[in-house]
Amino acid sequence: MNKDNILVVGGGIGGLTVSIALRRKGFSVTLIEREPEWPATGVGIIQQFNVLRVMADMDILDDYLANSYGFDETHCFNSQGESIFSFSSPRLAGEELPSNVGVSRISLQNILANKATELGTDIRLGTVLDHWQEKTDGIDAVFSDGSRDSFLLMIGADGIFSSTRRAIFPHAPEPHYTGQWVWRYNMPRPEEIKGIHLFYGRVNGGLTPLSSGLMYLFMLSEEPEDFRLDQRQACAMLHRRSRDAAPQIQQLMKFVHDDLEVVAKPLQVIFIEGPWHKGRVVLLGDAVHASTPHLAQGAGMAIEDAIVLADELSGSGDLEEVFSRYRQRRFERCRFVNINSRAIGDMQMGTRNDVDPGEINRQCLTLMAEPI
Ligand SMILES: Cc1cc2nc3c(=O)[nH]c(=O)nc-3n(C[C@H](O)[C@H](O)[C@H](O)COP(=O)(O)OP(=O)(O)OC[C@H]3O[C@@H](n4cnc5c(N)ncnc54)[C@H](O)[C@@H]3O)c2cc1C
Repeated sequence: MNKDNILVVGGGIGGLTVSIALRRKGFSVTLIEREPEWPATGVGIIQQFNVLRVMADMDILDDYLANSYGFDETHCFNSQGESIFSFSSPRLAGEELPSNVGVSRISLQNILANKATELGTDIRLGTVLDHWQEKTDGIDAVFSDGSRDSFLLMIGADGIFSSTRRAIFPHAPEPHYTGQWVWRYNMPRPEEIKGIHLFYGRVNGGLTPLSSGLMYLFMLSEEPEDFRLDQRQACAMLHRRSRDAAPQIQQLMKFVHDDLEVVAKPLQVIFIEGPWHKGRVVLLGDAVHASTPHLAQGAGMAIEDAIVLADELSGSGDLEEVFSRYRQRRFERCRFVNINSRAIGDMQMGTRNDVDPGEINRQCLTLMAEPI
């Protein structure tokens, strides 16, 4: 594969990671992100040892660990707040590294964006494609600022509502609402929250440490398809949904007082069963497989996609072979996360009673421990 310029559409977790991985392999990379600035607010996510492994390979592990909270422990409680069980996840990225981390999205975005910039990625914020045309030897692109460029290929890393996916697969299924919303709020971390605390029952939720002083609370709720969030009423809405939560959650609701700080999102999923590329355009991350957060692996799958795609692009064969090998290496792993995260949500909503979340988590750990 020659090292001509590659266009990455979308500067989220997947788009930035693929830019870093491609630059490290010597490709020229242009990344366009529609937002004019990197996000300055947001809550956190949980990542696991498979992401730590990639961070180490990309040479950003120290920065990542310095800006996150590592933990091994998971503590589970019933709706009365009684402990049901606790376990310690294995340190599968190495004994010296935690099994999981809680990290704020802003920190993660900054670490990835800084590394991509340092490696020489041409990052254009506030830019989208106006139109593009595929030719036999490349892609001609015209951007929203009127500038033009030619590229060897294009990577659609533009998230669950990917316009790249819609352009190349106009008949592909659209994202599907699962029936749950997730509500999240940053708050001070009490000393005793040293790992993830999960609460099961009529209200499912949890607490995740993000730093020595910060954690986030998350809570799931069932909402009708036409439910709309009124951000000015967000605290009141979250307080109402916490009424049947475990006492530990209810006690923390006193910190939920700023409507603008409530981050609430409907859970939506998509999985493209057919090809993940067409011609010179290939998809990664949520653009091709968005999952619910129940296994905390959505961003992990986008990150792994990025590494595998860069790896295959630096290998042999024409684009058709390269993209097919990429999908083959990623398909089962991403499908497992997609199907099983959703199954846990269905169980929480009572629409399935054949789901064992403990067994799913065990299988997930085993799968994620395998090389990508
Ligand atoms: C509520 C919730 C909680 C989650 N929690 C976790 C968790 O704990 N752990 C975990 O691993 N995963 C979690 N996930 C999943 C994770 O957030 C996603 O899987 C991950 O962000 C996917 O990365 P991505 O780069 O594919 O897409 P995104 O992060 O969505 O990035 C897409 C980027 O493309 C940009 N863009 C869109 N359209 C265009 C365009 N036309 N031109 C240019 N730019 C464009 C967007 O602005 C965005 O910056 C969670 C998801 C949700 C919804």
